[in-house]
This record gives sequence, structure tokens and C-alpha cells, in this order.
Amino acid sequence: MCVRDCIIRPEGVERTPHEYVEVIIDTPVQELDRPFHYSVPEDLRDAVEIGSIVLVPFTNRLMLAYVVGFPTRPDVARVRNISRILDEQPLFDFDAQRLCRWIAARYASSLSSAFRLVMPPGRSRKVKQFVSMAVDREKALEMLEDRRTALLDVVEVLSASAQEIEMAALKRHVSASAVSSAVASLEEKGLVKRRFVLTEPAASPAARLAVRASQGASDTFELDKLPTRQRDIMGHLVAHGGMEFQSDLLRVTGASSSSLKSLERKGLVEIVSEELLRQPRLGYGREAQEIPTPNEHQQAAVDRITEALEVKSHGVFLLEGVTGSGKTEVYLRAIERVLALGRSAIVLVPEISLTPQTLERFASRFPGKVAVLHSRLATGERYDQWRGIREGRYSVVVGARSALFAPLSNLGLIAIDEEHEPSYKSDTTPRYHAREVAETRARMSGALVILGSATPSLESVAKARAGIYEHLVLPYRIDNRPMPAVEVVDMKSVGGAGQVPLVSPLLLDALERTIEAGGQAILFLNRRGFSNYLQCHSCGHIMSCDECEVSLSYHRKGDMLMCHHCGKTWNVPEKCPDCGGGPLRQFGAGTQRVEEEVRKNLPGVSIIRMDTDTTTTKDAHGRLLGSFSAGEAQILVGTQMIAKGLDIPGVTLVGVINADTALALPDFRASERTYQLLTQVSGRAGRGLRPGRVIVQTFNPEHPAVRALSGDTDSFIEAELEMRRSALYPPFVDLVNVHITSPDLTAAARSAERMKKILEGDLADTGVTILGPAPSPLSRLRGQYRWHILLKCGDLDAIAGKLKASVGRFYEYAKAFPTGKDVRVYLDVNPASVL
Ligand code: ADP
Ligand code: ZN
Repeated sequence: MCVRDCIIRPEGVERTPHEYVEVIIDTPVQELDRPFHYSVPEDLRDAVEIGSIVLVPFTNRLMLAYVVGFPTRPDVARVRNISRILDEQPLFDFDAQRLCRWIAARYASSLSSAFRLVMPPGRSRKVKQFVSMAVDREKALEMLEDRRTALLDVVEVLSASAQEIEMAALKRHVSASAVSSAVASLEEKGLVKRRFVLTEPAASPAARLAVRASQGASDTFELDKLPTRQRDIMGHLVAHGGMEFQSDLLRVTGASSSSLKSLERKGLVEIVSEELLRQPRLGYGREAQEIPTPNEHQQAAVDRITEALEVKSHGVFLLEGVTGSGKTEVYLRAIERVLALGRSAIVLVPEISLTPQTLERFASRFPGKVAVLHSRLATGERYDQWRGIREGRYSVVVGARSALFAPLSNLGLIAIDEEHEPSYKSDTTPRYHAREVAETRARMSGALVILGSATPSLESVAKARAGIYEHLVLPYRIDNRPMPAVEVVDMKSVGGAGQVPLVSPLLLDALERTIEAGGQAILFLNRRGFSNYLQCHSCGHIMSCDECEVSLSYHRKGDMLMCHHCGKTWNVPEKCPDCGGGPLRQFGAGTQRVEEEVRKNLPGVSIIRMDTDTTTTKDAHGRLLGSFSAGEAQILVGTQMIAKGLDIPGVTLVGVINADTALALPDFRASERTYQLLTQVSGRAGRGLRPGRVIVQTFNPEHPAVRALSGDTDSFIEAELEMRRSALYPPFVDLVNVHITSPDLTAAARSAERMKKILEGDLADTGVTILGPAPSPLSRLRGQYRWHILLKCGDLDAIAGKLKASVGRFYEYAKAFPTGKDVRVYLDVNPASVL
């Protein structure tokens, strides 16, 4: 075996030598999802650290692993040596590895996927195996008494190739399941040999050539004697002094690199390679903004946070402030204190609000200290930001969910803006919630958490009420600007029994007035709503499951209604069960139809439409918003993507086309989301000097989520908490969504039944309620059929280990079936939605 590109030991640091290490192997293989112990060869003992990447032998191959601990004695009788320590600084520290273990346990995810969260961006590597013949074909065939086909196949494929073949490629030629053992036994007989190669990481430190005049060069050369171009270069260097990047220098002087080379040969300049830090753009780079003086409520909040900071204890604040109340200013002031105490801070904002505008507010307040981390940066930029953070060059990190894992030391504060946003829940494994991980990381480092929102999640509300979070309130908008006035239009009374218009006369009239007065309007349509719910046209009642309190989905096939939580089905009733009237109708309309209807009624008005269709190109989003905020259009029609963060002073009217689409989602969070979304959208109106107006169209004007908009928030929160309590939903229980997916419909359905049996066995006597299996509301997604089982448990932490074991048992079972290998089972703990 040979390994390229390894063995480096950090020099000159004294460490306690470690005889044994505990490692996590970097692999998706379920059976290897636990810590393993290895011994450390003498010459590597003082180089190995927590966070070191090592190569370890596993069965008959080499694998990448991360060092997570130093056991005093190994847990196996025959412990093997690690093979190498890779050329890297440790990737994480003791606290980070504790956090990763906590994540894997809490979300019942694999350890290796949890550790990948703290890896530097773009640095993941793989060990590739290459196989080649060690003897010629005839000799090999002669020596093979065992004429199993897989062995022969491997020999034939390898012999036919002039070069070594990668294991993955070999699997395409020879039966994949048999390849590994075939190669192993051929290797044992000395017929083939293997080579292990580490792949290069996607991101590496970048360098740039820089030029300076040699020491004393200006004394020794005579400018006039140099050829023109060389003279220009020297003149420029001497005049400016210091370093110039080679590319800049050549551009400015118009000289070629050969002129530069001859100057180097004459010893007049030095060309050196300088590390280049790729910098993402922070904001527009405009003038620093004026720093406002906090009003009394902001000051009170800052004072409380400051007090808590001084005693360096962990704690969580829920900062509830209406839209435009100045929450960001509170974060900024808190961070100022954190930095003054020599500590560091993380600010999480939803991906969609990571606009230049937001970044600039932080970057201009703390010049040179702010790093950003989010997925739209180039890999190299992200890697450089990450390194800068670890080296202590930055002390404030602003970013999306994943910025939570930034390698900051001495963390003092994590602020989460719009903490109720569903995007804080990861949708890939480990399916963590940023709020929970932030709390845990903060607890481990004795740091504070600030959760900010105009519409806090019910989880946070419940904790604030229980005194677990400290509640801070900003009740008014800055400068006491009024909140927009909300009017609700009851669509039942619009348009008679015939065709209901998309835009009510009241909203049309308001649009017309707004435009006449020189204002701008936003029309919002929630398109994530499914069109397949049934609603009574007389009373607005939406058909829902009496057990699960979620709306029923209408299935044209079989003309029936289904609850996608518990799987029960109903016939479509003739009349509305609520009012005895009807008819029951299907609903749904797109943004495009809204645009058409407005154009028809208000000819000559200019409209911008924003939805997934009009924003396919990379910067369409920014361009459309830019042109709307510049006043180039009077009306903006759009989906969710326009609901948040827009701060356009000209907008005085917001119209919600149909508040019911979100209410009708077959999800226990439907009401909460509706209320949050509508509040966010309303918050776009009247941010400038002119007051705002909001018009909400609905068939459910009495629904608490709708009434909450006009100010009755408390009743809504009460009603919603009560529903969650009685129907057993978070925050009163932990909900686990067990997903079963397969490209094969029958395999998915059967596996779901099987999984249910396994869970029933494993969870007997735990008091866990098991619902389903049922097809998921989105029953087919990207070619996969989706089924799910819902678990409601009083204490998740007590059973998380069991759940992981159940999944393992399922895979054991699935191996025995031909279709089983395409089935995937995964858990989503306290999901953002059960769709
Ligand atoms: P929120 O995050 O609560 O919606 P922001 O923090 O975005 O509110 O504040 C809204 C606007 O008010 C921003 O332009 C901000 O600069 C400004 N602002 C914040 N605090 C004050 C203050 N005390 N005096 C004047 N303007 C303020
Ligand atoms: Zn149900």
C-alpha cells in the first residue's frame, strides 16, 4: 500500500503523548456509525490531537477518520494502529466534538454526518482505491483454483486494461456486491495489488504573485538605461513603495511579464508568492450609516443583555419586537459589548434576508471584524472566511444556519434573527434545528442567545412563559410610526354564488387609490398551498381530520378525502358538515392569474411579478426587487419570496390574495405559519413616512390566525397552544416523522408497514404514540414515493437511541428483499412541517 500526500506533523508544540485514540470514521455505512479505538504508533503520539484527520485501516482498506478522544485503554482486545496523520491542522476542538456528539444523539443521525457540520468548507476528501494486476493474466488464471466468476471477471477486466482501475469503476464491470471480497482474496494470493489515493479537497489556500523593488535597488540602477517598459515598472514600484500584485502592476504599466522577468534576473525586483484571501463582498460599500441612539425599549433590552454578559453565564433572551421596532440595533449594541469583553459573536439570519443591505449594517458597524458564511459564496471564499475565523482575524460571523458551526473561540453571543423561520431547521441529515443547537453550543461556552422575532415560534413563546427564556419586548415601531391598519375582506360575500373574483372590489379600489396617491403596492399569494383541499363556499369551513386537527387532502382518484397524518379516509360529504350548506369547492390560483386580473381592471399600471417562474436566473431576484424599490413599477405581485425583509418606504398597501391557502396545508403548523407569514407581509406596508394599509382576503375571517393580524394576537396564541396541548403536538411533546421512501410504490408501502412493526416492538412500554403509516402529503417527490409514520413522545432524549437502533434493524430486514435496497428510512425530529 502506498499513500500519497500525507504524514505531516505540526512542529514544535509540546503535547502529552497519546497511546490510543477514539475516532469517528468518515463513511455513510450504517454499521460503522460508532466510535472506534486505535493505537497510535510511537512516532505519531505527540502529533495527534482532537480534530486531527487520520487514515485508519478498516477490514482490508484504509479510511478517513476524525480523532474525537483519547481513551486510556482500548475497547477491543486486538487494537490496530492508525496509519497516518494528514497534513492539516486539527479541524475542530473539544467543544465542537461535544456539540457534534450531542447533535447525533438528539436527532438520531449518524456521527459522521454530524461531524461533517464542523468541517472546513470545501475540504472534504475521500480515499480512492486503485486496483491493478500484480502478475500477468496467464499466471493468474493458472493460480486460480477457485474459479468463482467474480474473481475471474476481475482478472479479465484488469488484464484488459493498460492502467490501474478505480474500485468504483470496477464495480460497473463486475457484480458490485462481489467486487470487494473478490479483490481482497486476489490480493491475498498476490495476484492483484491495490493503491490508496487521497482525493484533493475542492478548496485550497490561494496565492497571488506580488512584486516589490529589491532592497537598495533604487540606489543601484539608472532608470534611463532601462528599456521603456522596465523603466515604467521600476518607476511605478519606487513611486508607490511596497508590494504590488503582479497582475495589477502589469495592467497599470501596460508592461509584459517578460519585462518583469528580466528585471528579476537583473536583481532589481523580487517576485514573491503571497497568500490571497478571497473576500466576499460585504454590502455595497457605501458610506457608514449613522448610528441611532436607542429608544427607551431598545435601551432596556440592551441593559438586560449587558448585565447577563458581564456575569458570563448562559441564558436565552426572547426579543419580541414588531416589524420595524429596531431589533437589529439591539443585536448590534449587544455585539459591541461582547467585543469589548474580548469575546466573539454569531448572527444568524434567514438565507433570504442575507442581502447586501443586511450585511452592510453589520460590516459598517464593526469594520474588518465581520466574516460571512453562507451557501451562495464560492467554495474558496467560504474556506478563506472559515480560516480567517479560526485564526481569530474575525470576531463576528454573520450567516445562514450553517454559520452556527463557525470555529470562533471564546464565543459570547449567538443572535438568531426571525427565529421562527422554518429555514432554521436543516432539511438534510442531521436534521437539526439551529435554535436548539445554538442553545447547546452557548451553554457549552457560557454564552448568551438572543432569539429575535415579531412573531416568535410557539416553542419559544412556551419557554418564555415557563420562565426558561427571558422575555424582552419592543412594543412599538421606531419613531412611533403606526402599524399598518388591517382590513379583512370576507370573500364569501364577494361575487355572489357564481365566479368569485381573485381580487375583491375593495382591494381593486385600494390599489387604484394607492397608485393615484403615488404609492406602491404589494400583492401576496401563498402558492405553497395545495389546490387539493375542499372548502365550503357558504361558511368557509375547511374539511379536516377530527383526530389530527389538520386539513384533509382531496383525492380525485376515488373521489375521497384523506388525512395524511393518520391515514384515515372519508367520502366527500354532500353538504358542509359545519353549516349544512355548500357547495364544497376546490381552491387554488396562481400569481399569473392575479397579474392578469389586475391588468384587466387597472390598464396602464406597471406590474412586476416575482415567483419561481420569473426568478430562474441567478440575479433575477435582486434585479426585480431593485427595480421595484427604485419605483419603476407600482405593483409587485409575488409568492413567499417577497414576504420577508423588504424595506421599501414607498409601499403603502399590501394585499393578501388568499389567506386560506396556508391555513389549509395538511400540517399541524398551518395556523402558526399563516399568522407569521401574514404578519411578515403586512409589515412591508407603511415603513416610510406615509402610513400603511393591509387588505386580507379570506373565506375564514373568524379564524384566530386571521384575527391575530388585526391585533388579537393573545387569543390566537392561547387557542393555538391549547390545540397543540390537546392534540399532542410540539412544544408539548416531541414529534418524530419517520420517512420511508422508495422509487417503487409497493416497496415504500410495504416497508412502511414493516417499519411500523419494528417500532411497535422497540417502543413498547415507552408510552410513545405511533400514528400511520400513511402516504406523506407530498406523496411523490423527485421520483421517490414517500410514506411516513408519526411518533409523539414525551421525552425524546430517552428513546433517541432506540429509534436509531430501529432504523438499523429495518435495514437488516430490507437486505433480504430485492426491492429493499432502494428503500430509505430517515427520521425528522420535531419537523418544520410534516409535508
Ligand atoms: P426590525 O429588525 O425590528 O424590523 P430594524 O432593526 O430593521 O427593525 O430597524 C428599522 C429601521 O429603524 C432601521 O432602518 C434602523 O436603522 C432604524 N432604527 C433602529 N433603531 C433606531 C433608533 N433608536 N432611532 C432611529 N432609528 C432607528
Ligand atoms: Zn388524522
